Amino acid sequence: MKGGVIAIDGPSASGKSTTARAVAESLGFAHLDSGALYRGVTLVALREAARRGRAHESPLAVVGPETILRAAEDRGLMLQPDGAGFAAYLEGEPVDTEIRGPRVTGCVSAVSAVPVVREWINSRLRAMVRAGRDVVVDGRDIGTVVFPDADLKVFLTASPAARAGRRITQRGVDADAARLEAEAAALAARDHADSSRVVAPLRPAEDAVLLDTTTLAFAEQVRRIVDLARPVFGRN
Ligand code: C5P
Repeated sequence: MKGGVIAIDGPSASGKSTTARAVAESLGFAHLDSGALYRGVTLVALREAARRGRAHESPLAVVGPETILRAAEDRGLMLQPDGAGFAAYLEGEPVDTEIRGPRVTGCVSAVSAVPVVREWINSRLRAMVRAGRDVVVDGRDIGTVVFPDADLKVFLTASPAARAGRRITQRGVDADAARLEAEAAALAARDHADSSRVVAPLRPAEDAVLLDTTTLAFAEQVRRIVDLARPVFGRN
């Protein structure tokens, strides 16, 4: 039996993952973070480049996508059910911290632009949903490409300054002017790469509900999505 799907898309640091997790917890769904799989494949690519003694080069210049995906399978890249969500594993070890580090973050957009990588990840995401659990899936193309029939689609946005501020605060450091400027530039570069790629660019689905969270408190944005979801899933 196929599970229900809420798709939450949006640009980097729009709060998709934390929002998706809170919405999932509130509804008793599981949270599936598609970015974790893109980051996991990127980590595989970096490790394969390092195994060839070329850790400092762009991984796609060292290993082709087919070799990367074969390594991802052989080395057991997976998202395993973990409480209210799924945790990323590689070579039998949890890698949730490593996949969010600067090296992976710097290379992930390039790896994500490769069509065979996207097909491989999409088929994994669809198989996880076919397994029957109700899920909140967050990403860039969930409502447009991966689950075009999702029961509810939400596209989160927030101003670049608000997103940069949130990212810096998450790291536990002061959001001073220099940090804000550098972070906003890095986010803008990743947004541009994700929105301008030919395959599955970041854009809202036509039937997505747009939610600008620039001035919304976190609890409020979660409540709005939960309120949209309850009638759809008959859980008033
Ligand atoms: O959401 P997160 O920032 O972890 O995603 C990391 C990167 O993975 C994004 O910048 C994007 O390049 C890619 N991604 C994607 N499609 C998705 C999810 C993530 O291209 N559905």
